[in-house]
Amino acid sequence: MSKGACVADLAELVASHIVDVPDFPKPGILFKDLTPLFADGPVFREVIDGIVAYHGAGSFDVVAGIEARGFVLAAAIAYATGLGVVPVRKAGKLPRETHRASYELEYGEAALEVHTDAFKPGERVLVVDDVLATGGTAATTLDLVERAGGTVAGFTVLLELSFLPGRDRLAPREVHALLTV
Ligand code: AMP
Repeated sequence: MSKGACVADLAELVASHIVDVPDFPKPGILFKDLTPLFADGPVFREVIDGIVAYHGAGSFDVVAGIEARGFVLAAAIAYATGLGVVPVRKAGKLPRETHRASYELEYGEAALEVHTDAFKPGERVLVVDDVLATGGTAATTLDLVERAGGTVAGFTVLLELSFLPGRDRLAPREVHALLTV
């Protein structure tokens, strides 16, 4: 059983399990593919344990994951802490009454939804995703969590792209990134 990786180890683990994919999903985008990290059992466990250790088990009541790679992280954190997981989904996927919020993408618009009864009033919600880029997805998700009655207890990504304004856009909310490039 690992004693737990330190912050620098976790950053290195993330860095060494990213595959850069140029021009995906469209020309000019350098896609940061983190599926190799998900696929490596011991590394995935270190990363999940590192996220839980950073926030402290007991500092959140439920974990929300942003579709779709956020689901992988959220489910593992929830299982590791004995908590439940809530999906924040692309519009039109959730079957019952939802809160919905639209946001600007580089080209066009996208929308996210969460069930209106996803959280108990005041429930402390840890929100997770794989990559923070412009911050539109995260900002919209954190707003939805609050509209649905949750309190944002923390927001974690594996990778933050610091040449984009995600962190500034989320301020004064804190961003926890295992690796910032
Ligand atoms: P944004 O709303 O611009 O912060 O984009 C964040 C969402 O898009 C996250 O759910 C990421 O999974 C995905 N994403 C954005 N840019 C990238 C990228 N360069 N590589 C991988 N995923 C990305």
